Amino acid sequence: MNLPKAAGGPTPGKKLTIAIEGCCHGELDNIYGTLQHLEQKEGKKIDLLISCGDFQAVRNLDDLETMSCPVKYRALNTFYKYYSGEAKAPYPTLFIGGNHEAANYMWELYYGGWAAPNIYFMGYTGCVKFGGVRIAGLSGTYSQAAYMRGHDEKLPYSESSIRSMYHIRDFEVYRLMQIKQPVDIFLSHDWPTNIANYGNKEQLLSRKQFLRSEIEDGSLGNPAGQQLMSALQPRYWFSAHMHTKFPAIVPHSDSSITRFLALDKCLPGRDFLQVAVIPLISSSVFQHIFWTISYDEEWLAIMRSTHDVINLDRRHQPLPGMGALRKGASEADVKVVEEVLQQRGGAKIDPTAFVQTARPADASAAAASNSGSHTGFRGPKKRGRMPSAHVRNPQTESLLQMLQLPYNLEHGPRQMVNMMTGSVSCVVDNHAALPPPPARTVTEDQVNAALDNPEEIDLGGEEEDQVEEEEESGQQQAGQDNTRVEEEQHKEADVVKPTVSLDGTTLEDDPMFKPMC
Ligand code: 5GP
Ligand code: MN
Repeated sequence: MNLPKAAGGPTPGKKLTIAIEGCCHGELDNIYGTLQHLEQKEGKKIDLLISCGDFQAVRNLDDLETMSCPVKYRALNTFYKYYSGEAKAPYPTLFIGGNHEAANYMWELYYGGWAAPNIYFMGYTGCVKFGGVRIAGLSGTYSQAAYMRGHDEKLPYSESSIRSMYHIRDFEVYRLMQIKQPVDIFLSHDWPTNIANYGNKEQLLSRKQFLRSEIEDGSLGNPAGQQLMSALQPRYWFSAHMHTKFPAIVPHSDSSITRFLALDKCLPGRDFLQVAVIPLISSSVFQHIFWTISYDEEWLAIMRSTHDVINLDRRHQPLPGMGALRKGASEADVKVVEEVLQQRGGAKIDPTAFVQTARPADASAAAASNSGSHTGFRGPKKRGRMPSAHVRNPQTESLLQMLQLPYNLEHGPRQMVNMMTGSVSCVVDNHAALPPPPARTVTEDQVNAALDNPEEIDLGGEEEDQVEEEEESGQQQAGQDNTRVEEEQHKEADVVKPTVSLDGTTLEDDPMFKPMC
């Protein structure tokens, strides 16, 4: 076999060792420290880290103002160091977004890109390859009220926009539905609806009693996730958000199965990490393998075929009907992508393409933001200013240019921001306009009812923030402050003790995935 070799990558033909992590919450130092501790202890190597959202790629105090989170819990944590170059991600890291993200930064990288060197955001929707393993993902969480709305949120965000920024939209699910070729791993932050019925539900409820009624009436989780799982039938599906570990096996009509695994958030003693060996499927694909994060050919073609389904208006825009729901990329777009990739010499994503588009925080701002935490800072919590206008990320511009697509992430007249002074000026947008929205299928009354009731639109996020507060405080002693308890836990956790090992177990062999009879 003539297999490509890349410095630092695994030996071709061997299996890929992936660490999967639940909610990150900006705890990169702890997560990388844990993985390095594991490698040293067991003398083995991890090839890739995947995080399933609430990653908190917060570059500075201004970004923090765009993140949905009660002010008292907002903290910069450690991502900014990897963004500024002060620290280097020791593993290629892939992540999707959850419901606590720097929304302005994630929007810059809507189609995916390096959020920091060696740390790749999958985009609001995306599909990439690593070592021949195909990984697709959906960022955000489901909210019925926002699902049919466009992404009309514009900087500076309102309180309501900060929440709806992370709500999944129908056109994003539509895009993922176009994937026809087999997917190895799918990532979502919230769980697909009804997934609890495919694992040990009673054990789950013994830890999360408050979920019983929602599990029983089928209202827990993301219905679009369930649709995607049954359409794409990936080998594995990883999620986070519910702050507990939960494995399940979902059978499909053709007798294939999806192994689902949800993981906790990064705290000592919690099951936030799983290390798994992924067997590479067939030697026939080896000639296309890159031991780095690379573009997925089918996904690039889908990006072209679905570029105009994006909706930046509040009102819903209809999508192609059921007959066309899984049409896939057009043949013409597949051909364009083939040519484009040939011209650029392959699908490898340029690892040096990362560019800073905002000034990173410095240590003193971080200490003031992480105040009361293990930084030792005890002064008043310092806050930034909500950014005033969208910044075009050069990575997004060059990806769209590569695909010969117009830039389409800007609302209204194009605004240019001088990153260093913060001043804003308007310029004429000479990019091709999106086609006018096609005829609407919802009635005027339905739309007006939704617009008249802004609370309805906010419900999802508020509920989650509240539940989080209630749930966490329920686990602590009455009257204690959550933040303080978690701070204490972090103080003792130079390395968060891992509850997993690098024993080379594949998820197929792992006893947690024994079918329930
Ligand atoms: P966060 O995303 O704020 O970090 O955490 C989400 C928290 O809210 C978790 O503790 C999870 O158990 C809870 N949660 C998330 N979604 C739901 C939901 O749909 N219903 C209920 N009851 N709890 C939820
Ligand atoms: Mn979450």
